[in-house]
Amino acid sequence: MSSMHVLILGGTRDAMNLADLLLAAPQFTATYSLAGRTRRPLPAALPTRRGGFGGVSGLQQWLSAHHVAAVVDATHPFAAQMSAHALQACRALGLPLVRFGREPWVAGDGDNWQHCASLSAAAQRLISHGQPGQRILLATGGSTLHHFDHIHDRHFAVRCVDPPQPPPRFSSWSLIEDRGPFQLDDERRLLREQRIDTIVCKNSGGKAAQAKLLAARELGIEVIMVERPDIAPADAELFDSPSVLQWLQTRLATALSSQ
Ligand code: NAP
Repeated sequence: MSSMHVLILGGTRDAMNLADLLLAAPQFTATYSLAGRTRRPLPAALPTRRGGFGGVSGLQQWLSAHHVAAVVDATHPFAAQMSAHALQACRALGLPLVRFGREPWVAGDGDNWQHCASLSAAAQRLISHGQPGQRILLATGGSTLHHFDHIHDRHFAVRCVDPPQPPPRFSSWSLIEDRGPFQLDDERRLLREQRIDTIVCKNSGGKAAQAKLLAARELGIEVIMVERPDIAPADAELFDSPSVLQWLQTRLATALSSQ
């Protein structure tokens, strides 16, 4: 084995950082994989493929055909299906799988968070506890808006990377087309200018999207926090790219010593 082929399941800033590290590590060749949802994705440093694999069997075929020796699942914490597929495919092929995760956010003093298990529970919470005329920053991603489109007496400020297609069926809404990382000053300004009463977001964790929570704490704004789906554990779960690189180097050393 001259170099080890690693598949990075990407779609996050962490995955991009790992791609930078792997590019500079000559003992690895790596491919970066994107679902292809974002119209203008940030370019990764590595050769990139786009689009689904075609379920678990398609992923297995791809891994075998490209002689992949290890997989890094660096998808978003809510990309539960891709993570489950990666686990099944790697188990079936006996490939090592590491999850490059992010610690979830935890409420601190002064936070007013309501925890919900799903997006539909968050919508239900808005109906049962919110008020007509309430102004909501919806920061859950463009593909999630249908969960809220039966709520007609509120204003939704929708923040997403691309304009949502199809447009949401909200009676009153505005688009904030933006991509993180977000700064605290900008988040304060946004919440004030848009006169936001409530933020609905996913518990993605990480620093890039955390500033809205700090601004909400300062301004006494309620946060409806959608908690993460359960994802079965991989062989390892690591939280920074140097640790993932180290883990890959150990797998490579093990593979070389058994040749
Ligand atoms: P998902 O529900 O777990 O995945 C749905 C399907 O999309 C998968 O079964 C797979 O199709 C394809 N897919 C997902 N990630 C892929 C990847 N990295 N490379 C190739 N195919 C992929 O995931 P999702 O919630 O739609 O998220 C899609 C992507 O957006 C992920 O890469 C994720 O990191 C990123 N993202 C997600 C969120 C979120 O909140 N969910 C937020 C920010 C970024 P096949 O079954 O055909 O292989």
